[in-house]
Amino acid sequence: MKGRCQIKPRSINFMLWLVLSCFVLGTTIVLGAMQMSTMKRTVREEVTSNLSSTTYSVRAYLDQMIMSDSVISLYLRNMSMQSGFSIYVLDTNGILRYPTMSEENVFDYSEELAVGLKKLAEVDEDDVYGVIYASSPSNYTSLSPLLINGLPSYLYINASIRLENSILTTLQVRLIFFALVVLIIAFLVSGIISMRLSRPIADLSQKSKLLAKGDFSVDFSGEYYYSEIDELAGTLNYARDELSKSDAMQKELIANVSHDMKTPLTMIKAYASMIQEISGEDPIKRKKHTQVIIDESDRLTSLVNDILDLSKIRAGLDELKLSVFNLSEFSYSILGRFSYLSETQQYQFETSIEDDLYVTADRAKLGQVLYNLIGNAVNYTGEDKRIKISLQRRDTMAVFRVQDTGKGIAPEEIQTIWDRYYRSKEAHKRPIKGTGLGLSIVKTICEKHGFRYGVESEQGKGSTFFVEIPLTEAKETEELA
Ligand code: ADP
Repeated sequence: MKGRCQIKPRSINFMLWLVLSCFVLGTTIVLGAMQMSTMKRTVREEVTSNLSSTTYSVRAYLDQMIMSDSVISLYLRNMSMQSGFSIYVLDTNGILRYPTMSEENVFDYSEELAVGLKKLAEVDEDDVYGVIYASSPSNYTSLSPLLINGLPSYLYINASIRLENSILTTLQVRLIFFALVVLIIAFLVSGIISMRLSRPIADLSQKSKLLAKGDFSVDFSGEYYYSEIDELAGTLNYARDELSKSDAMQKELIANVSHDMKTPLTMIKAYASMIQEISGEDPIKRKKHTQVIIDESDRLTSLVNDILDLSKIRAGLDELKLSVFNLSEFSYSILGRFSYLSETQQYQFETSIEDDLYVTADRAKLGQVLYNLIGNAVNYTGEDKRIKISLQRRDTMAVFRVQDTGKGIAPEEIQTIWDRYYRSKEAHKRPIKGTGLGLSIVKTICEKHGFRYGVESEQGKGSTFFVEIPLTEAKETEELA
């Protein structure tokens, strides 16, 4: 069971719109809510403070002395006008006492008084200034007990905040309207951004599909607004170039391999016919002709082996079989395989091999590396047919070098020669048949061992290929033995 949960991919357009809209909406709501609550609090503080100062002033006035009803009523009416509040004095039953009204108008505030008295009971009884409380969503009330002309009464002041409430409601509506406008702007902005972002991505994806189908003419470059997309286009162009190179090399390999296979096959067929028709009875000729068949079959085998080796090493199927061995002696034995060239084709091998250099490596594979490097030197050395082979100790390393006197390698080719299938055009005039896989095998084996390898080349003078193999000291050798 897989632990990872699958995330369904969504379009950039939608995600951008969602994120931007949520952000804008969230910010508007938070800011709006903060503003509304601040305003409500300010209104409440303002009204209660005004109520409390009005209560204080009225009480101070009424407490002064015995006054006539008309003076008290006049005073209360004036104060009501000044403050904008309704200011009454009620008796203990909640009936309006001041300002005085005509006999037939009895204003009964007993219900309001009952509510106020409850609130009053909740606060400190000694508080002569009474209580201020919200009597309804749009009203604040101040209730305080007092004695007027010796009679116990209640000063009842009512402040309406209807106006403030209506201002707040207007603000709320405006905020909602503002949020809607911002949402539309977010929608447009996210649309523009995502169009600039997703359109090139969709475009690149379309072109990648063409590339996947083998169309190497696609061009990913374009005028992109974002540097990351521009970079991606550059990378895709690079991938296209590499793929097209590899494709061309594969095609070339097939051409080369079929050419290299066709030649020995033609020879085998021709010599087999010759044996059948002409040389069958003549033992000397027959031997010569069968030898050609054997040699050509060997060539075919090594070609097929090269291809198989490389794919096996690359796929990691072929593990390294490490052992400690004498590389000096081993180098001589590999060189021995080329001795027929000095005997038959005047090749000169100059050797400088230090004795008893022990290394730990996969013997057969390292043998392939040395064989391929010497084989290439044979193929590419100059007219003088000279090749220098050296194996020297340098600090903790055994350095194997093969030097030829050939044309050398152009600086722009130095990197590519290690690629699979890369092969020079002059491949077919050589004593040792190659497939364009030789250096790729060297590279793969050295990298698998962790050996440093490379080439130093000067055009017109020749090339020196080298491999550095860590030495295994004699003590370690004995231990391992
Ligand atoms: P090939 O079968 O063509 O030799 P390799 O992989 O061994 O394949 O080499 C790849 C290419 O590297 C060759 O085709 C040649 O162009 C270049 N090369 C290899 N060795 C030498 C050398 N000693 N001197 C010059 N060029 C070389």
